[in-house]
Amino acid sequence: MDLRRLTKTIFRDSLLASQLAKLINDYWRLLRSNGVEEVKIMNFCGTHEYTSTHYGIRNILPQGVSLVAGPGCPVCITPSYYVETAVELALEGFTAYTYGDAYRLPAVREVKGCRSLSDARMAGADVRVVYSFLDAVRDAASHGKPAVFLAVGFETTCPAYASAIASEMVPSNLTLISAGRLTPPAARYAVERVGTVSGVIAPGHVSTITGAGVWRFLPEEYGIPTVVTGFEPVDVLIAVATILKQLAENKPGLVVEYSRTVTMDGNQRAKKFLSQVFDVVDSAWRGIGFIEKSGYSLRKQFEQYDVVKTFGLREPGKDDWKNDLMPGCICGQVILGAAKPTDCPLFMKRCTPGTPYGPCMVSAEGACSIWARLGGRERLVEVV
Ligand code: SF4
Ligand code: SF4
Repeated sequence: MDLRRLTKTIFRDSLLASQLAKLINDYWRLLRSNGVEEVKIMNFCGTHEYTSTHYGIRNILPQGVSLVAGPGCPVCITPSYYVETAVELALEGFTAYTYGDAYRLPAVREVKGCRSLSDARMAGADVRVVYSFLDAVRDAASHGKPAVFLAVGFETTCPAYASAIASEMVPSNLTLISAGRLTPPAARYAVERVGTVSGVIAPGHVSTITGAGVWRFLPEEYGIPTVVTGFEPVDVLIAVATILKQLAENKPGLVVEYSRTVTMDGNQRAKKFLSQVFDVVDSAWRGIGFIEKSGYSLRKQFEQYDVVKTFGLREPGKDDWKNDLMPGCICGQVILGAAKPTDCPLFMKRCTPGTPYGPCMVSAEGACSIWARLGGRERLVEVV
């Protein structure tokens, strides 16, 4: 049996899952006897939201223990202004690149009748969907025409931009809309603003780069149990059990359940590239607004790769983020765990995966899209 199969066998094991469900119930009973009425655990990242929904994990949690979505979908939080800029440049003759998830991301304001890169392509623009930044680098080098990359992503994706730029692989005709974001400042914002989060399931992939140590502030400053966990159902159940245990014992801490991939210090090489190429600046998150020190901006010595600097585009200002969501869309509340996708009156009416109206309905990691595609499963499924 190969390692991947072995991991799936262990982390989808039904006996293990049912034992964890029992443990979760035991800790919950203990908490109830201490007067606790509700525990809200934030799935910071979209793939944990996917695991929780796809495997029906919410259905086996005791009433009173809830899993809520967080701001961990890089497509959902990419400001509309960046999409509008990409669409505008594509319509002006640039070759525009992005990932599949961001291709259909709708902007608030139309640009010449187009709201997304997908619309721009239908209008005749040269928009190309790529799997990786390196694909765009190679392609742009081959044609030599002005090109722009809608560079969304978190700490997991941004090292690819940074290493290509630092290694001088990026051709001079390719510029970036630098939309990279850092996740710990958003987690701080979410727990401060929402105030009712009792535990956090911290992102697994991000932590492989940053190291789990970046999440220490949650237990240390806010007393919130935090578990960096993997993406299989048993991983998430272990995280929930660990958080409830820590709450019951009143000993909040940071636990790395995903130790098969994550260390405390992370990937030094990737972090070196990131700090070599990017400054960390205050940045906007769609539906939320500006969060201090939460975005990657290309350093001065690399500004020839920054589309805003190179083509003298207007720098986005704070007013650009004020109306960053379509009327009626409550993505801002969904990604802060303050509302469920089904609380949105537009959910599966005006806004569906086929016709996304708001940003959380587009990506495979978007909470509304996950609930729309997978919601309502009654039992823990696909557990062997
Ligand atoms: S890239 Fe991975 S860690 Fe980051 S939000 Fe997506 S699933 Fe979570
Ligand atoms: S259902 Fe659509 S409109 Fe409503 S919050 Fe989600 S993405 Fe926004």
